[in-house]
Amino acid sequence: VQAVFRSNLSHLLELMGSGKESLIFMKKRTKRLTSQWATAAQRLAQKLGDIQRDQKQILVHIGFLTEESGDVFSPRVLKGGPLGEMVQWADILAALYVLGHSLRVTVSLKELQSNLGVPPGRGNCPLTMPLPFDLIYTDYHGLQQMKQHMGLSFKKYRCRIRVIDTFGTEPAYNHEEYATLHGYRTNWGYWNLNPKQFMTMFPHTPDNSFMGFVSEELNETEKQLIKGGKASNMAVVYGKEASIWKPQGKEKFLAILNKYMEIHGTVYYESQRPPEVPAFVKNHGLLPQPEFQQLLRKAKLFIGFGFPYEGPAPLEAIANGCVFLQSRFSPPHSSLNHEFFRGKPTSREVFSQHPYAENFIGKPHVWTVDYNNSEEFEAAIKAIMKTQVDPYLPYEYTCEGMLERIHAYIQHQDFCAVPGSALPGTHTSPSPFVLAPNATHLEWARNASLVPGAWPPTHSLRAWLAAPGRACTDACLDHGLICEPSFFPFLNSRDAFLKLQVPCDSTEWEMHHLYPALAQPGQECYLQKEPLLFSCAGANTKYQRLCPCRDFRKGQVALCRGCL
Ligand code: UDP
Repeated sequence: VQAVFRSNLSHLLELMGSGKESLIFMKKRTKRLTSQWATAAQRLAQKLGDIQRDQKQILVHIGFLTEESGDVFSPRVLKGGPLGEMVQWADILAALYVLGHSLRVTVSLKELQSNLGVPPGRGNCPLTMPLPFDLIYTDYHGLQQMKQHMGLSFKKYRCRIRVIDTFGTEPAYNHEEYATLHGYRTNWGYWNLNPKQFMTMFPHTPDNSFMGFVSEELNETEKQLIKGGKASNMAVVYGKEASIWKPQGKEKFLAILNKYMEIHGTVYYESQRPPEVPAFVKNHGLLPQPEFQQLLRKAKLFIGFGFPYEGPAPLEAIANGCVFLQSRFSPPHSSLNHEFFRGKPTSREVFSQHPYAENFIGKPHVWTVDYNNSEEFEAAIKAIMKTQVDPYLPYEYTCEGMLERIHAYIQHQDFCAVPGSALPGTHTSPSPFVLAPNATHLEWARNASLVPGAWPPTHSLRAWLAAPGRACTDACLDHGLICEPSFFPFLNSRDAFLKLQVPCDSTEWEMHHLYPALAQPGQECYLQKEPLLFSCAGANTKYQRLCPCRDFRKGQVALCRGCL
């Protein structure tokens, strides 16, 4: 059956069920964004032309909303609890539905079991049964539930699973044996999935797939209206929970901000003003999403106090014409030094409250400054009050951008294919490279035969030998490219080193998430023995890593130029 774009979302709203506060929040959002999705679908349909798209049978099992996993989020929807996950799930459902796929949605173990065909009451079904779904989108909670209740089918079908994983899972944490042996074991990792099966909220690490969400879009008239109606001295503080206002050195910069601007907050409260919020702040309480957007439309500045990390709100603020001001973290926060990230399956270092805003958007929309430096802070406020900015939304966070990306994943990502069938064997080298004219990096020869089934297509591959201590994520960015882990197998050979004019004194195959790499001194070349450990993330001063990079589209980092 062919997938046909849909523009009427009322059936999806039925599929989403009812009852829980979280579902009510998600359905309101989907309803509000319906016309935006419909327009985006039209545009993408035009762009894709008459390309063949199969309709997939898809199960969406939202594990964190099940009673069995505690469902701590639903009761906090109206009390300032996190909403980012619900924003994302609502948008994933909408995107899959709009793309024309056949959907089932489950938010309880019972519904999950009945959809999987597990007889109720049978905890662990030992038999492998045919799975009626081509794809399953779930989260870490759901993954655990499926493992417990699918019996042997879990192993057989886990290649069809996609795990929505806000902050990401790095390969070193994903490989069970390696994680256990080398201290990367956490509560969440060790599933031995292909790291691209984990899908993140922001493009944190290219080892995972970037799923994202959408922000509301403005048309030209709305943009002009907003620009004219801004109060240049109005600031809204990022955060719904009173705890983010606890002093810890905030008095100083709050006093400076208060000198120049009227400060607004959207902090949840029950009957009394939360004591953490100073009296000079105009607190609106937690607002329904559309009213929060209205507030952002009037404000000049959206200011972060360092928490929450990496949520949707700063993108919404920037889309509504605000400047986002946030603090630089020095030293960076990570699972090694911060409670929030502790136990998360990543070593990623976070250099500001919202690294995506800092690195992918930047000035004039985003200012990242040291809040402990009063002069720097004050200068930023003054400069921001004087700058005019246009509302801005990166393409990848528009409905069309999200549809395009998910369409590409569904069309091209296949983790069930026998490993190595379409790729060169790790121990043999195909030699399809040419050395670029400046002889510092490898380019896939344009006339070399494309590797069938490889996605992204191999012509976008550019390989670089990174400086000692440099991760592939950064080494590729240094050249205006992005690391592409699916290209690692093409570089994992002595031949690739040779082509880069690195004569290896010796070559060894080992399991290590930084390989292929060159170790100094001694010119030892190390090759990767375990394909699951190919990793863009990670660095050690001992190694110069061999890095597979590719180009990307401006505003759609997940896709290379010839990828669709
Ligand atoms: N939001 C809201 N009311 C408010 C403040 C925020 O509905 O008063 C919404 C906002 O539109 C955003 C969502 O909360 O889409 C999540 O934003 P945030 O960045 O705070 O992420 P979280 O920490 O909740 O995951």
